[in-house]
Amino acid sequence: MIILALNCGSSSVKYQLYDTNTGILLAKGALERIGFVGTFIIHQTEHQKHRLECDCANHEDAIFTVFKFLTDEEFGVISELNQINAVGHRIVHGGELFKKSVLVDDEVINAIDSLSSLAPLHNPPNLAGITAIKSLLPDVPQVAVFDTAFHQTMPPAAYLYAIPMKWYEKYGVRKYGFHGTSHLYVSRRAAKLLNKDIKDTKLISLHIGNGVSVTAVSGGKSIDTSMGFTPLDGAVMGTRSGSIDPAVVLFMIDKEGFSSEEVNTVLNKCSGVLGITGRYTDRRDIARVAKEGDRLCNLSMDIESYRLKKLIGEYYAVLGGLDAVIFTAGVGENSSIARKMVCEGLEHFGINIDNDKNEAAHSEADISKDDSPVKIFLIPTNEELVIIEDVKAILECSYNNPDFKYSFEV
Ligand code: ADP
Repeated sequence: MIILALNCGSSSVKYQLYDTNTGILLAKGALERIGFVGTFIIHQTEHQKHRLECDCANHEDAIFTVFKFLTDEEFGVISELNQINAVGHRIVHGGELFKKSVLVDDEVINAIDSLSSLAPLHNPPNLAGITAIKSLLPDVPQVAVFDTAFHQTMPPAAYLYAIPMKWYEKYGVRKYGFHGTSHLYVSRRAAKLLNKDIKDTKLISLHIGNGVSVTAVSGGKSIDTSMGFTPLDGAVMGTRSGSIDPAVVLFMIDKEGFSSEEVNTVLNKCSGVLGITGRYTDRRDIARVAKEGDRLCNLSMDIESYRLKKLIGEYYAVLGGLDAVIFTAGVGENSSIARKMVCEGLEHFGINIDNDKNEAAHSEADISKDDSPVKIFLIPTNEELVIIEDVKAILECSYNNPDFKYSFEV
């Protein structure tokens, strides 16, 4: 089966084309700056990488361009578009309507559309991708895979806020959580590394990239997560503040006369480690300059790791035990200093990092001391693989089978 995974953002389309028979990634790429001057595509196959300028006014143009590359005589990996058996879409917000991935039909399209007010920047472009495929490949089945679905198992005590219940009932104001596909992938891999059935595991997964979220996973199910109603909540991020006292917003509106849009921009785009350092979002820059003695960069690393430590403590408490802590995403996978700073001081929880293993790890690895009661894993995330396997399982009608397992967990 040949499956195309699509991630349609407001001005970009990211894609991966997989052959599930061979398990080979045939091509991947990204088309950026849709609707702006200077649109370009980066298209990669096993042996080649191309960057070319193109002209795309909207998502349909963009996906048409991707199709041209996939079937091109020089850059292509398939000869005909009808070789694509199915398309899987990453959809940011599934609200309370979607607890799992689903086959797309008109009802699903309307439901995703109805959730746009919860994710105004994400669901409309995600939907534009579905509509474009519907028009370009009308007979090809499409599957929607939601960032929020994995967290739909949280209990009400975890997902409800202590605000008037009417806000939840009328507008759906509650914690939804994000990065679900990533937390699902790494938690299943961790169970495999622990050589345990996922149902018997208690895990804390730290997805630390530009966006950062921490999830408590019990028996393979998310029971709490640090992002909330939006991805702004929780840990300190590249440019997002994470949790703050909500009264700060009111205070700043009073002081500076900010509009809601301005506050939104400051908290989402000018805060986090960028806000603290005043210069950097990339943790590589921060670690380098911190090493040279820069006060704000050191402070940024201290605040980020302190807050992650506290989240581990919270989730240890609600899990009632812990088998492993998992590090994933850009920082979690690549920064040994970040992992060390988070784990140091948590020895009383049985979390004992092995500094040599931590320094040496660059791919999936156990970086805990041999006798550490809680294992510490570095697990590179693979959200696309989850999308591809969900699509395949849905088409083969095995997805809703209670014994369904992903290839990466067996
Ligand atoms: P997102 O998908 O949220 O945009 P990623 O998971 O790709 O983010 O992570 C991006 C971040 O990973 C960058 O901001 C950078 O700080 C960090 N990163 C990547 N490589 C390294 C590294 N070698 N050391 C420290 N941080 C790194």
